[in-house]
Amino acid sequence: MRYPPEPFRIKVVEPIQLISPEARRLAMQAAGYNVFALRSDDVFIDLLTDSGTGAMSQEQWAAIMRGDESYAGARSYFRLSEAMSEIFGFEHFVPTHQGRAAENILANLLVKPGMYVPSNMHFDTTEGNILARGGRPTNLVIDEAFDPTNLHPFKGNMDIAKLRAFIQQVGPKNIPFGAITLTNNAGGGQPVSLANIRAVSETYHEFGIPFFIDSCRYAENAYFIKLREPGYANKSTLEIAREIFALADGAWMSAKKDGMVNIGGFLAVRDNDLFQMICSELILREGFISYGGLAGRDLDALAVGLREGLDESYLHYRLGQTAYLGARLKENNIPFIEPSGGHAIYVDAGHLLPHIPQAEFPGIALAANLYLAGGIRAVEIGSVMFAHSNPETGEMVYPKLELVRLAIPRRVYTQAHFDYIADVLGELAQSAASLRGYRLTYAPALLRHFTARFEPL
Ligand SMILES: *Cc1c(COP(=O)(O)O)cnc(C)c1O
Repeated sequence: MRYPPEPFRIKVVEPIQLISPEARRLAMQAAGYNVFALRSDDVFIDLLTDSGTGAMSQEQWAAIMRGDESYAGARSYFRLSEAMSEIFGFEHFVPTHQGRAAENILANLLVKPGMYVPSNMHFDTTEGNILARGGRPTNLVIDEAFDPTNLHPFKGNMDIAKLRAFIQQVGPKNIPFGAITLTNNAGGGQPVSLANIRAVSETYHEFGIPFFIDSCRYAENAYFIKLREPGYANKSTLEIAREIFALADGAWMSAKKDGMVNIGGFLAVRDNDLFQMICSELILREGFISYGGLAGRDLDALAVGLREGLDESYLHYRLGQTAYLGARLKENNIPFIEPSGGHAIYVDAGHLLPHIPQAEFPGIALAANLYLAGGIRAVEIGSVMFAHSNPETGEMVYPKLELVRLAIPRRVYTQAHFDYIADVLGELAQSAASLRGYRLTYAPALLRHFTARFEPL
């Protein structure tokens, strides 16, 4: 597998350094073995997230200088509005400072205690926002998603039979809206096919349930459709994106992903009444409807970034880079969710460390040791993030997979960085049997992975 040459050259550099093994040991200890508590200066290669960590282009930086900081009616807002209608085509949208702000507004307006919100898989902030309103986020992804070696081309698909049975079981009145996440971040960055999105839309609509798309990585998803779904090879990613969003009643996005910006998001809808309610919430919590918690310059950077995120030479490089890392890990016998996803490789820590039980957090063990061994920061997506006690029985419910996500910032790292990551992981895998589990010493009630602390066992 060849590494795709970057479709850009580098104009600005940001120095990084690998601190000594002893300094890394002290840093990990001080961080309570939670990589979220590390200082970025102590990190060599930062794969914690692809969210807001990308490099902006010269056009985006130029757009920043054109930002109009007027409180209302700013030119920046209208430029973003133009990009929004060109790509997403919803009647209304508001900017938000990130994706979770949009989720908060939507959940606050629509989710009542005891209600259900189905999706293929909710991401952690979506799940948290639904739970915070007393709702029940429900994941209905196809079974193939839980088999890390299954090569299904659209492992993010929703199980339509399960969805239909679920709606009939809980009743459409108890489902304020239905969702789908593109690509399926919590399930390996796997794409959803257009045929599946269409079937999901039809199923929700048959029962009168509004359909919302969590569209953080819609551009990567659109390019996967172009590459893998029969009938789409000759369509542009823009055409595919339009076809996707035409099926939905609304969407939200963390623009820190495929929006190619360091901060930003939006909430878009068709319904006039819902839009009025969203505006009131936005003004209360985020800012006026034409900036929503962002600066005018942020809106301009996003207007340019949305178009760059759909560029096919960029997407070819982007998905090729992820696939290259996957191929290198495979050479080193590291188990991960295959096929490789869009924005990240999800290492199967449960499989790599079978001697560590889920209650002792194999993902934390791998993430901590990846930092200790090579200064690489990656995030656990497993029991710390998703294990919870069943509200009826009080019993612990563990996720099906214990993963460590190597998220790839956009336009930031080069081939040598990926080779280094693969080498460090390869060496770790050889000493896997000697790695120990961890014990929680502190955890808050919601979204505990951000601030939890641990102790090695
Ligand atoms: C990042 C992300 C969010 C939340 O967005 P923030 O900008 O981090 O608030 C929601 N859903 C998915 C799928 C995401 O990847």
